[in-house]
Amino acid sequence: MNLDRPDLFREQAFVAGVWRDQAGGRTLDIVDPARGTVIARVPALTEAETGDAVAAAAAAFPAWRALTARERGQIVRRWYDLIVRHQEDIARIMTAENGKPLAEARGEVMYAANFVSWYAEEAKRIYGEIVPEAIPGRRVLLTKAPVGVAAAITPWNFPAAMITRECAPALVAGCPIIVKPAEQTPLTALALAVLAEEAGVPKGVLQVVTGAPEVIGGVLLASPVVRKIGFTGSNAVGRLLYRQSADTMKRISLELGGSAPFIVFDDADLDVAVGQAMMAKFRNNGQTCVSANRFLVHETVAPDFVGRLAEKVAAVKVGPGDEPGVLAGPLIDGQGFDKVCRHVEDAIAKGARAIIGGKPHKLGGTFYEPTVLTGVNTQMLITQEETFGPVAPVMTFSTEDQAVDLANATPFGLMAYFFTRDLGRGFRVQEALDFGMIGVNTGMLATDSAPMGGVKQSGLGKVGGRQGLEEYLDTKYVAMSGM
Ligand code: ADP
Repeated sequence: MNLDRPDLFREQAFVAGVWRDQAGGRTLDIVDPARGTVIARVPALTEAETGDAVAAAAAAFPAWRALTARERGQIVRRWYDLIVRHQEDIARIMTAENGKPLAEARGEVMYAANFVSWYAEEAKRIYGEIVPEAIPGRRVLLTKAPVGVAAAITPWNFPAAMITRECAPALVAGCPIIVKPAEQTPLTALALAVLAEEAGVPKGVLQVVTGAPEVIGGVLLASPVVRKIGFTGSNAVGRLLYRQSADTMKRISLELGGSAPFIVFDDADLDVAVGQAMMAKFRNNGQTCVSANRFLVHETVAPDFVGRLAEKVAAVKVGPGDEPGVLAGPLIDGQGFDKVCRHVEDAIAKGARAIIGGKPHKLGGTFYEPTVLTGVNTQMLITQEETFGPVAPVMTFSTEDQAVDLANATPFGLMAYFFTRDLGRGFRVQEALDFGMIGVNTGMLATDSAPMGGVKQSGLGKVGGRQGLEEYLDTKYVAMSGM
């Protein structure tokens, strides 16, 4: 890898301000998903080594919370400047471990950096309140206090942004944070930690622990010192962490999977709908929790929509993310690849038709052909589970009520998209959809400044915006009498 700053490529964990190996030399292999080759080895920390990080965070907490919010904001702002300055190196590291096209990786680095600058500015606006009180001589103050030591457990699909959107609010709130990146993509996290250290984040305030999820998760979840968990990942692990948080009564936010409907009404601008479908479905090769998972298209416009979508999908160049012009990389690993194959095979066996794609790509490995399926129904796995791959399954509907019912017929409630030019329908349908995030005539909602998060089985709490900062703050009610 050709980096301007080769020292951003780290194969050590970052604990208590020290870059360290596992004491016994135990490591985890990091694999380039495009080529199947091992590109790095990171420490597989033990329980005791993870405990060192918890202790270091606890030790760092008093001094970090004692800084003014403005001082913390300035340090966090320097972190932003460094991330932006080293955008290209971070993107290269990300593409190597995650497989996404370099252009997308560069975009993600900026998306990740924007959380850092947004929260650096918001640090100054962590306001309390004074509440008018009925009892004479008494004053009621509501102040904001950091929740304490926090931990972020993050997925591989956005190796930078899923980390900064937890770390930035934690840091400005006054919370030390321990990051456990996904086992597939720790290198991006480690590069970000190098830059946090350089920005002046004190030792123990931001740490990265690498290794087996159950080992590290076990320590972080059992510890009474860790007061807050910010998790993005699968529903099964989210439920497990929720249960594991109960005994120590941790604050927890969970951003879990969805099964996003993408509804195209008969009055939609089809050019817009098709363009946005490409974003909502094929960005990151369909490997995002907000990826359109079920296309619901009005029967009168379905042939036109499918034809135009297939034309765009046919033009997608598949290949390793570091090759020019590539728009779709490999799937992250064999497990992810098998799931996509299983979903498509099941759909075809039950009567769906592949208009384009529908099978593993001739490049081999975990590459899969960008696919459009028609004749899809709710009996197929592909409409019941999150596919997490480059497959657009299309169903049709005839009335607005039917579209809404189909969209809501899922235990998940993260993201929904719909396309219409009718203002009344715009209001009616967004009110009727049971989802935490709704895109009207857009397939891309990701931002630093608005709260993202789901309802139902898709999780709890918010990331992003002011609401994402509240997740790292407790409101303290102070009644002062005898004034
Ligand atoms: P995905 O399907 O995206 O890989 P996971 O939920 O398995 O989703 O992974 C998301 C994050 O959760 C990763 O950092 C992973 O290492 C972590 N993780 C997985 N299992 C556990 C566990 N038992 N305890 C704590 N963290 C876990």
